[in-house]
Amino acid sequence: MNNTGHILTQSAQYLKGVGPKRIKSLNKLNIFTIKDLLYYFPRRYEDRGNFKPINKVEIGKFETIRGKVLTMGLRRLKGKMTLFQLAVGDNTGIIYAVWFNQPYMKDVFKIQDEVILYGKVDRYRTLQINSPEYEIIRNDEEDSTIHTGRIVPIYPLTYDVSQRYLRTIAKRNLDSHLPEIEEFMEPDIIQGNSLICLEEALAAIHFPQSFAQLQKAKERLIFNEFFLLQLALGLKRRDIKESAKGIKFNISAGLLGRFKSRLPFTLTASQQKVVAEIEADMASQKPMNRLLQGDVGSGKTIVSIWAMVICVQNGFQAALMAPTEILAEQHHRTIKAMLEPLGVRVGVLTSGLKKKEKEAILAAAENHEIDILIGTHALIQDEMRCKKLGLVIIDEQHKFGVEQRIKLQKKGVMPDVLVMSATPIPRTLAITVYGDLDISTIRELPPGRTPVETYWISEKKRRDLYVFLKKKITEKNQVYVVYPLIEQSKLKDLKAATIMFEHFRDEIFPECRVGLLHGRMKDAEKKAVMEAFKQGQLDILVATTVIEVGIDVANAAIMLIEHAERFGLSQLHQLRGRVGRGKKQAYCVLLSQGTSEDTLKRLRAMTSTTDGFKIAEYDLLIRGPGEFFGTRQHGMPELKIGNIITDRELLVLSRKEAFQYLENSPDFLTDKENKIARELKEKFPVSGEGVMGR
Ligand code: ADP
Ligand code: MG
Repeated sequence: MNNTGHILTQSAQYLKGVGPKRIKSLNKLNIFTIKDLLYYFPRRYEDRGNFKPINKVEIGKFETIRGKVLTMGLRRLKGKMTLFQLAVGDNTGIIYAVWFNQPYMKDVFKIQDEVILYGKVDRYRTLQINSPEYEIIRNDEEDSTIHTGRIVPIYPLTYDVSQRYLRTIAKRNLDSHLPEIEEFMEPDIIQGNSLICLEEALAAIHFPQSFAQLQKAKERLIFNEFFLLQLALGLKRRDIKESAKGIKFNISAGLLGRFKSRLPFTLTASQQKVVAEIEADMASQKPMNRLLQGDVGSGKTIVSIWAMVICVQNGFQAALMAPTEILAEQHHRTIKAMLEPLGVRVGVLTSGLKKKEKEAILAAAENHEIDILIGTHALIQDEMRCKKLGLVIIDEQHKFGVEQRIKLQKKGVMPDVLVMSATPIPRTLAITVYGDLDISTIRELPPGRTPVETYWISEKKRRDLYVFLKKKITEKNQVYVVYPLIEQSKLKDLKAATIMFEHFRDEIFPECRVGLLHGRMKDAEKKAVMEAFKQGQLDILVATTVIEVGIDVANAAIMLIEHAERFGLSQLHQLRGRVGRGKKQAYCVLLSQGTSEDTLKRLRAMTSTTDGFKIAEYDLLIRGPGEFFGTRQHGMPELKIGNIITDRELLVLSRKEAFQYLENSPDFLTDKENKIARELKEKFPVSGEGVMGR
């Protein structure tokens, strides 16, 4: 059976019923080989297995009936229209199947054929089913119906492939190639987890005999997928840990001590714990590869500065990359204020810098005249070279792709890496999605914060809202007003923010100081507006989502979000996180006319909790893991059948098995005969930087 792999990896073009033309359509569905087709899973199923006596069918419902063809006829209607009618009867009555403009249907049936029809029942003068799914039962294939009379698979398809066609070739392919499917899983693992064999699972995922069998088939295939994924992640983790020689930082030098004694506050217990985890990583020879997650405002920045101080006191440079110029500027200011008095040289690199300034910074980085370099994407440009980069930090990592992270890492030799995320997710998920990263979580917010009160109001309440805002502004609170920005209509949305800014300034709040901030403004302008707001020289800041991430202005107590329906849940939570940083009661007001189910879910979630973990879970449920994580961006392979949320139990099981296997057979990957290795290499590239990057 050694060469069976070859047959299954042959082009699907060699299947019966697939020619050079069809193969193009199949390729669009990512079906290239025979095996791909076996692994092209239905999106859902329809139970067409229970026949209804014709006199019991219900109008408006989808029904399956079985009977004999009594009469049939093709009629020409007005214009070029045709109508083909088929009268089918059982012992209880007669129903008409009709097809418009498909005259060729007349050649499909013969009088006296035994047929099964499935479709929505209507009544005109007679009972009727328009364009039903159909099946003709020939005596010799009583058991092999595929489109009706059973639980029928419905595939995810594009317009040029029909359900009927795909079902037909799937069935043929299964019939002729199932015996060649090679069981790759260890028998112990199959038995230990009460899984069914692969051959049965693949047959049943397409054409299940019962829903119970379908369930077992799904379980088996999901297990496979998770098992291989976890194996890939486990290998990657092991490679990084074992082979790589990173930098061994000394923790107890003097700079860190001086830094600690000047801290403006005491770290929370959570912060202390993650600092200890980071210190242990940095002190070890293995390169740190850690994710620091914590809700907005939980105080990740100070933890990252701690790590930078350790790096610098060892004579290395640190780089911190942030997604926006405003955020990079803010970090620069914070870090400079804290560390420059200690003799640390801090610089900032953004694309908005003048040519001269940029050159000066780049030269300083290259000559090691700068210890800490903060910046935006500008950090990963080719011209950026650090002499001795020892630590790389990525803030708001969900805004970056894996490649960008790797690019920055490559500016050093095995630097330690810390990525930060303000979208915390539960541990069982985090270990899967971030797989090769170690995870530190800040669970609590710094003391003295009052939870933000969140309100969801409609346009009708706008006047009341203005009254409320005026009152709050007189009490010396600052207000953010945020407008959505949508790619396709940037200009129009920009206008919305601009127009509202003028409206607020001139008509609604003439006695207040109103500012405007959006992405199209020049760097210097943005900086000036942000600074003015920070200094309390503005009461209201009308902005687009440029303020979404990381901005920290303690006196801002009110966040008003216009068109809240246009924002994702995590995004709304991020925006809300901009307020409630000071002692005052803070408010988040969501203005929305949206009525879609998803909108309601999101806004309800916002008003029901301020806990970032819960928000992330809701968001995952609403959007599904693919969109939530932006799998591509994370470099995480797309899962075909497993769902890390709903199949969490299988995820945990398969992870345990995969790690066990890795421990028992550490060299399985180099064994040419190893079936798991073969399957793994096919599904998830595991060598080098692979799909998952480091
Ligand atoms: P995020 O985790 O969202 O990046 P930041 O690091 O910006 O949060 O911290 C939010 C605010 O909380 C900052 O103003 C920071 O100075 C403050 N902060 C952080 N840690 C503490 C602490 N332990 N006690 C008091 N304030 C803190
Ligand atoms: Mg932050």
